Amino acid sequence: MTEHARAVVIGGGVGGTSVAYHLAELGWRDVVLVERAALTSGSTFHSAGLVGQLRSTVTLTKMMMYGVELYRRLAAETGVDPSWHEVGSLRLASSRERYEELQRQAGWAKTFGLPLELISAREAQQRFPLMSTEGVLGAVFLPTDGWLDPSGLAQALAAGARRRGVTIRTDTRVVDVRTARGRVTGVEVEHGGDRTVIQSEVVVNAAGMFAPEIGLLAGVTVPIVPMAHEYLFTEPVEGVSPGFATMRDPDNLCYFREEVGGLCMGGYERHPAPWGLDGIPADFNGRLLAPDWPRFEEIMAGAIRRVPAIENAGVTRMINGPEAFTPDNEFILGESEVRGFFLAAGFCAHGIAGAGGIGRQMASWIVEGEPELDLWKMDIRRFGAQYRSRTYTLARSIENYATYYDIHYPNEERQAGRPLRLSPTYERLTALGCAFGEKSGWERPNWFESNAALGDESLRPHGWAGEHWSPAIGAEALATRRAAALFDETSFAKIEVSGAAACDFLQRLCANDLDRPVGSIVYTSMLNSRGGIECDFTVTRLAADRFFIVTGTAFGNHDLGWIRKHAPEDGGVTVADVTSARACLGLWGPAARDILAPLTTDDVSDVAFPYLSARSIAVGNVPLLALRVTYVGELGWELYPPMEYGLTLWDVLWEAGQSHGLVAGGYRAIDALRLEKGYRVWSSDITPEETPYEAGLGFAVKLDKGVDFIGREALARAKAVGPRKRLRCLVLDDPRSVALGNEPVRVGSEIVGRVTSGGYGYAVERSIAYAYLPPDVPIGSRAEVEEFGTWTGCEVAREPLYDPAGERMRA
Ligand SMILES: Cc1cc2nc3c(=O)[nH]c(=O)nc-3n(C[C@H](O)[C@H](O)[C@H](O)COP(=O)(O)OP(=O)(O)OC[C@H]3O[C@@H](n4cnc5c(N)ncnc54)[C@H](O)[C@@H]3O)c2cc1C
Repeated sequence: MTEHARAVVIGGGVGGTSVAYHLAELGWRDVVLVERAALTSGSTFHSAGLVGQLRSTVTLTKMMMYGVELYRRLAAETGVDPSWHEVGSLRLASSRERYEELQRQAGWAKTFGLPLELISAREAQQRFPLMSTEGVLGAVFLPTDGWLDPSGLAQALAAGARRRGVTIRTDTRVVDVRTARGRVTGVEVEHGGDRTVIQSEVVVNAAGMFAPEIGLLAGVTVPIVPMAHEYLFTEPVEGVSPGFATMRDPDNLCYFREEVGGLCMGGYERHPAPWGLDGIPADFNGRLLAPDWPRFEEIMAGAIRRVPAIENAGVTRMINGPEAFTPDNEFILGESEVRGFFLAAGFCAHGIAGAGGIGRQMASWIVEGEPELDLWKMDIRRFGAQYRSRTYTLARSIENYATYYDIHYPNEERQAGRPLRLSPTYERLTALGCAFGEKSGWERPNWFESNAALGDESLRPHGWAGEHWSPAIGAEALATRRAAALFDETSFAKIEVSGAAACDFLQRLCANDLDRPVGSIVYTSMLNSRGGIECDFTVTRLAADRFFIVTGTAFGNHDLGWIRKHAPEDGGVTVADVTSARACLGLWGPAARDILAPLTTDDVSDVAFPYLSARSIAVGNVPLLALRVTYVGELGWELYPPMEYGLTLWDVLWEAGQSHGLVAGGYRAIDALRLEKGYRVWSSDITPEETPYEAGLGFAVKLDKGVDFIGREALARAKAVGPRKRLRCLVLDDPRSVALGNEPVRVGSEIVGRVTSGGYGYAVERSIAYAYLPPDVPIGSRAEVEEFGTWTGCEVAREPLYDPAGERMRA
């Protein structure tokens, strides 16, 4: 039998029911949800049901806030009550560092208008009288958090979806996902021994920990590891009352809530238990795992320290249930490389809190073609090919789970699965004392210990910004400004777009004008239909029909996905990931030409090789593509040899540079240098939620290039109306006070924005931060940035702070 639906949603947990509910809300009625057993028979039924809103990213917090709004009204709207208890939540700090983390979160919450209060240990105890205050330095209380019945939530969402026309089929198992020419065309399902094909151009894989199996049916890797997660219920405990706030005590690895006069208590152990790695049984529905008391001991010990009464409370039930975890502890959402095949899975034990927001964003992604919010950090495209490896995925997921409740200082580096992707210069960099960081599996230089002695320890920023810091960063930044530095940037993602229709195609995608002579380099963004910035990179025209795109290490898959999604299907354009074909060394600084010129017979003068142009040249014995571009604001080149020449190129440049004061430089110096120049970072300073005009990138938009590029109409409207906000450069009064991102910014007593990125500029000797502010806050005005509960004055400065005329890079 064959049927047809506008969308098929696979999975009847909170994820699938929420996606179906929100699709119907946006007017898609012809939606079928298929569930292989009963609704809520996956991870949902055994969840603890806590809902906490404040998270580590803006988007996730906004999604959780929407969830609470939805959960409050679901009972009245659908007639099914998910038992939402808005009792508030406590998060305790039992160490100085944890208290600083809470202070940071309290600042961050202000930018959302979340009513988070920093309170004393005694005040926390008033809201959870059984807790011991021993060692507690303080807490935060968020009155709008709470808990609910997870199965009730899924049933309420399903009822709401049904009322709007969604068909829900239980005991209906997806046995195949049909695809053709890179697109999904439907699913084959089995019910009571009968098989049916449901044709559909949209299939949503919301199968929780089963999502990898469903992904495989479509040829899509879904990096999810099921982990056993435990909590218990106690008999009624004297003194426990229904109004108890939920409580998390990360230093003791545990969380609590009230349950019929007793306690529900669980946590994150340091030795996680992956499960079902050889396949989850086909009948694993409505089932739990056997209690694992030894694994729970660590959590129990912490819980007794915090709530002594639990030691003697009778345990009525221990829940040990598997849940879908991901390598970075964040959801997996969005459209996969198979068009129309969407993911909404991998909820990492915050799926109940997240379900509302996930459903809403997924529905707008499917119906409008784009989510409302910047979902990059949850986007399936953040996972590169290395996640096809089970051992790698497992190692990364275990590390994340085991350190869930740790304090994560900004710039912390993960260790699992390293080293993996190595530049040809790796051994040389190691010999120079490279402090490597990791991004997208690549080992990349953060700084070189060998440069530390050249730096100034007294510049170490106060507090958290001074962690994962070295005086070498300043030494490398200043050497770039004063002499030259050599940066290995091999990890850059590189994309080639070619074919007879390549130029027309890119013109339709890019906001800048790419139809320029061969050898030109153009800085551009690609926009969504709202005019928000989806991609931000340089495009080099290598030939009339061939373009070379260089983008951030972590953004390659994302940008490839965006470009491929819009590529014509008639073969007129080929889009290739050429990241691994070429190494990249950046040579920058006033001495860059003096180092390069003697090594090549090609003319590298400004006249022959001007700024924003590309040439094929040879350096020493190495043939390469040289791009005269800079992300640091100095004279210099990015040199792209075929990968196998990378080491030789490093050696040639290194030797030639010694008499010119050349140093090896790392990414942290690049970040400091780009802040001085006002260069934006996609994913923090600029995102799909901002237009180029708001981001101060109007110079790279050509509304009048004669092509109706994606986002043009929205941009033209935005230009006419004027920006809603503007990205502004802030210079802090205290140079040792360095913003890390997400700090609130106020003018007078009003919170007006949130820091997008910050750091210290070693040449301008200023602490710099960027933030979107209302357009009527002029340059020169005073503002304040809150760091760890302290407000530091700052000035809204004209940018860029360094070399505003751009003379140095055009030298
Ligand atoms: C012990 C524990 C405690 C937790 N506590 C909390 C908490 O306090 N707060 C919080 O926010 N989150 C918590 N969570 C996490 C939360 O429960 C999950 O994130 C959420 O329930 C996942 O929902 P889902 O819809 O993605 O997956 P599931 O609920 O697993 O739903 C997936 C569904 O897909 C179906 N399916 C699979 N394969 C097929 C197929 N081939 N055809 C058709 N259907 C298929 C399955 O049968 C299943 O019903 C906890 C999880 C656990 C395990």
